[in-house]
Amino acid sequence: MTPPNTIRIAVMPGDGIGPEVTAVTVAILERLARRHGLGLVTEELRAGAFCYRDTGTAMSEETFRRAEAADAILLGAMGWPGIRYPDGTELGPQLDLRMRLGLFAGIRPIKAIPGVRGALADPRAANIDLVIVRESTEGLFASRNRGEIIEDREARETLVITREITEKLSHVSFGLAAERAARLGRPGRVTLVDKANVFRAFAFMRKVFDEVAATYPAIAADHHYVDAMALDLIRRPWDFDVLPTENMFGDILSDLAAGLIGGMGFAPSADLGDGHAVFQPSHGTAPDIAGQGIANPTATLLSAAMMLDWLGTRGAGQGWHDAARELETAVRGAFADGLRTPDIGGRDGTASVAAAVADRLAG
Ligand code: ATP
Repeated sequence: MTPPNTIRIAVMPGDGIGPEVTAVTVAILERLARRHGLGLVTEELRAGAFCYRDTGTAMSEETFRRAEAADAILLGAMGWPGIRYPDGTELGPQLDLRMRLGLFAGIRPIKAIPGVRGALADPRAANIDLVIVRESTEGLFASRNRGEIIEDREARETLVITREITEKLSHVSFGLAAERAARLGRPGRVTLVDKANVFRAFAFMRKVFDEVAATYPAIAADHHYVDAMALDLIRRPWDFDVLPTENMFGDILSDLAAGLIGGMGFAPSADLGDGHAVFQPSHGTAPDIAGQGIANPTATLLSAAMMLDWLGTRGAGQGWHDAARELETAVRGAFADGLRTPDIGGRDGTASVAAAVADRLAG
């Protein structure tokens, strides 16, 4: 039987490189739990494209309920080319999870890792440390599976912005900026990324954001049009702090931003709702490299660090924060000391990254 103070983590490895990056991450989590005396159990749950192929459902109701009942969910990646629903659309059980659990805030930290060169040669790129807060339940994705095609002549998708979710997204963003300002010892700034000059929905989003901003006088607030942000993320990404944005904009900008710090293998994420959270790398199943032992598990390890931190914030105890710091420091230290994964031109595969990080957690 599980002891009363035990935290239960549902692990959904998924497809492609998902099982490869989650396996090493779970092993590291177990090591951290031993070191810090954390009561942690993991339960592996099957979902994804191959689950659909084999069972006819991408995520059973029983699996959903077990994930929902867990204290946190660690997810690899889901989907596979060639395995699709009968209407030709891609399987997206991880998107269903976001919608059903109300995970409106996709927290995507973009932080340069020492020794890892991103797309920019400018030495200031070493200072990149921003967070995209991608709204993850509405925006253009509210139309997912609902778009209409009219007489093979016209197609329509409807974007949805609500006051309720925009307020919550703004509060999460300002809370995050305040926490970062305190930790980093510098003022915080939240920049809403929108297209308020063209669309009413974004003018509305901006109005609601400004109302919330007024309640955080210690944090600077401003706005940036999404097209200008795409340019400035290349020109001066080191100038930004917290960037809340609509779902589709966040989807696109977070891939662009991952390129600034070495690629998808380095970009973690946390999808947060009021009571639930899913932690997963920002990347997909990478079918081109699956099964070769070369997937970079860094994004998943850093997502696990975010999970430990979040559990600490939710009352699990200081040990969880300490474990989070230690994991992040170990990952960054391993790269600072010369670890180089194949996605950045090196030769250290999944197991080598895991060993280098585990070594730093020894002693
Ligand atoms: P999705 O639409 O599900 O986000 P995708 O097909 O757009 O997925 P990814 O699966 O993220 O994209 O892969 C994009 C590219 O990045 C591929 O070339 C892939 O090999 C590479 N990639 C993604 N994740 C990793 C990783 N962890 N390690 C190494 N390379 C990766």
